[in-house]
Amino acid sequence: MEIKPDMAYYRNQGTDVHALIERRILLINLRRLQPLLWGIIVFTALILASSSLLRERAIADFGFSDPLQMMIMLRSMWLGIDLFAILAIRRVLAGKTEQTTYLHGILETGIILVNMLFVVVMLSKGYAYNPSLEVLYIALFALAPVIRLNLAKSIIVIGLPCFLVLLIILGQNGIGVVHISNIISLIAITILAMIIFRVMYLSRVRELAQQLTIERQLAEMERLSVTDGLTQLANRRSLDKQLEIEWGRAVRLKLPLALVMMDIDYFKGFNDSYGHLRGDACLQAIARVIERHTRRAGDLGARYGGEEFVILLPNTDLASAAVIAENIRQEIFDMDCVHAGSPEKRVTVSLGVAASCSVDASSGPELLDAADRALYRAKAFGRNRVVLAGASYAEESLL
Ligand code: GH3
Ligand code: MG
Ligand code: MG
Repeated sequence: MEIKPDMAYYRNQGTDVHALIERRILLINLRRLQPLLWGIIVFTALILASSSLLRERAIADFGFSDPLQMMIMLRSMWLGIDLFAILAIRRVLAGKTEQTTYLHGILETGIILVNMLFVVVMLSKGYAYNPSLEVLYIALFALAPVIRLNLAKSIIVIGLPCFLVLLIILGQNGIGVVHISNIISLIAITILAMIIFRVMYLSRVRELAQQLTIERQLAEMERLSVTDGLTQLANRRSLDKQLEIEWGRAVRLKLPLALVMMDIDYFKGFNDSYGHLRGDACLQAIARVIERHTRRAGDLGARYGGEEFVILLPNTDLASAAVIAENIRQEIFDMDCVHAGSPEKRVTVSLGVAASCSVDASSGPELLDAADRALYRAKAFGRNRVVLAGASYAEESLL
């Protein structure tokens, strides 16, 4: 099955998907440049070793000691520069995820360009003795399977070196048939290399766009699996998981953990009188109130079931949780959502509050149970109120 890159989604989200893809390609390129540079280093070192062995022989056979010295010097420089480049890449990539900067782009293109320019300089030094361009061709096609560059970058790292080589050929005395054939093959190879770079770059962009789409879909599935569709609060599954985590943390760090259980009063009657649509809207309005009161990091408002909600409050004692519960009750009361069947003539809620420091609970579900029992008492005492559960209270006390 082909997965189509969902570009429209990213545009709507205001995400510059191309910038994101460019950043990923840049990081991949930097990672891939390392083995390529090691390859160049090993190859250059071998040539240096062999040239020192064959030095006397070469001078005797061809009588050129100056270009040979120049080549040895250039190759040593090349080796040193590439070692530095590897160090720079390692530094840049240390702990990198998606963040890349303009400077990283310059580093990537710079490293490739410097290597290509070394090839060009070598070629220009040796061209008088061996007027062929194999070194450049090998360099071009060694890059193609490893590095993905956009048009502008490939013009810099392929176009520029090829143009310089063209100048070198044209600078030769008397353009013979070898030079003309070199010019033709240089132009042909440059065009071919550019096409290969373009095709490979585009296929990489496509691949990464698909990857982004899959990542987005997975994130959305993940979000849906923990969210309640109607209220957009956390769902019960997510609450159970979070309660377990927070209970463990509270025990470990000896911090209080509070929990509020809330139920809408006479909600069945509300639905019967005003219909389920109005009922759903009421649930949503109440969810927004819960959201406004669960802003601290770690706080979690969840829809527990039908018209029941749970609010998880880490590092909160019973008294602070009671204040939050009472504020929520008051705000829902003040919404003044008409409910003729309720004694208050408006929608109200009952809340039970329990905290780990004040009830005898040995697990998250037991804390939940304590809050549920407090809620039951709030209902029994007449609804529209907050009841606290606590071992330190002889009776569960009323606010
Ligand atoms: P109490 O004060 O004792 O809580 O009375 P109640 O009528 O609220 O209690 P009960 O548990 O009998 O009723 C819960 C009602 O909540 C039943 C159902 O009509 C309503 N309800 C549950 N889930 C939804 C929902 O997703 N949408 C709507 N509109 N109503 C729901
Ligand atoms: Mg209920
Ligand atoms: Mg109810």
